[in-house]
Amino acid sequence: MTAYDDLPVLDHGPGSAPPTGAQLASTIAYLARVLKTPTIARTWAELAETARQSGWSHEEYLATVLQRQVADREAHGTALRIGGAHFPQVKTLEEFNLDHQPSLRRDILAHLATTTWIPKADNVVLLGPPGVGKTHLAIALGVKAAQAGYPVLFDTATGWVARLASAHAAGRLELELKRLRKYKLLIIDEIGYLAFDHDAANLFFQLVASRYEQGSILATSNMPFGRWGEIFSNDIVAAAMIDRLVHHAEVVTLAGDSYRTRSRRELLERDTPAKAK
Ligand code: ADP
Ligand code: MG
Repeated sequence: MTAYDDLPVLDHGPGSAPPTGAQLASTIAYLARVLKTPTIARTWAELAETARQSGWSHEEYLATVLQRQVADREAHGTALRIGGAHFPQVKTLEEFNLDHQPSLRRDILAHLATTTWIPKADNVVLLGPPGVGKTHLAIALGVKAAQAGYPVLFDTATGWVARLASAHAAGRLELELKRLRKYKLLIIDEIGYLAFDHDAANLFFQLVASRYEQGSILATSNMPFGRWGEIFSNDIVAAAMIDRLVHHAEVVTLAGDSYRTRSRRELLERDTPAKAK
């Protein structure tokens, strides 16, 4: 007995009648179900028609059908990973206006967009004042990671601490840290907006330490490293954490005005002469 006992078998033997169109259709539908390839089930007939009309070889037809299936599977996986990442909103690199960041090195951004740093468990730290696009870039690079097949999870620094604190309270901190390792990229947004007490700083340190050389972290902060001691109420913990974070990392400093106020000002400047007339 196998799982495929009711498999309809096509008989290509000598003297056997060719299968009817209906028999072929039901066999293909069955086989696509067994293979879990719904796109093949949905597209084979229409593509066969195209193949006949365009004179495709059998090989071309097969390659096209399989390619459709693989593309759909990849798109579905990407959509699931983007949904599972809990981004506050979806932002892309294409939407990021580089003209507003003249000092941002294009080659570094292009390198980060390739996601080759993720399998190496390297980190990325984005520093800069509020409104310069740190969260935007963090999400956009997270989307790239999801598209490249890496599971990603996004939260703010405060969110991460809350998550770890509740795991710790339930005696499951180790388990939670282990579970988080299945995410190839963790994004920690907004380090420094709120200061952490001793326990929170300790939990945060454990998160960074547990990822060290195991999985990537992308962190953003409005505070330069020199002031992280204030965030974690402890210079030694902060120094130990920065050490692990930046050992294999790309640190990118974004400069300039807030994108929000800048666009508002540009609008105002554009409008003012018109109003003055
Ligand atoms: P930060 O996290 O540094 O405080 P955000 O990433 O939240 O800043 O950016 C604030 C807003 O401005 C967001 O809506 C973001 O999409 C937009 N923004 C910032 N920088 C740029 C940019 N260079 N190009 C396009 N949009 C930008
Ligand atoms: Mg932000």
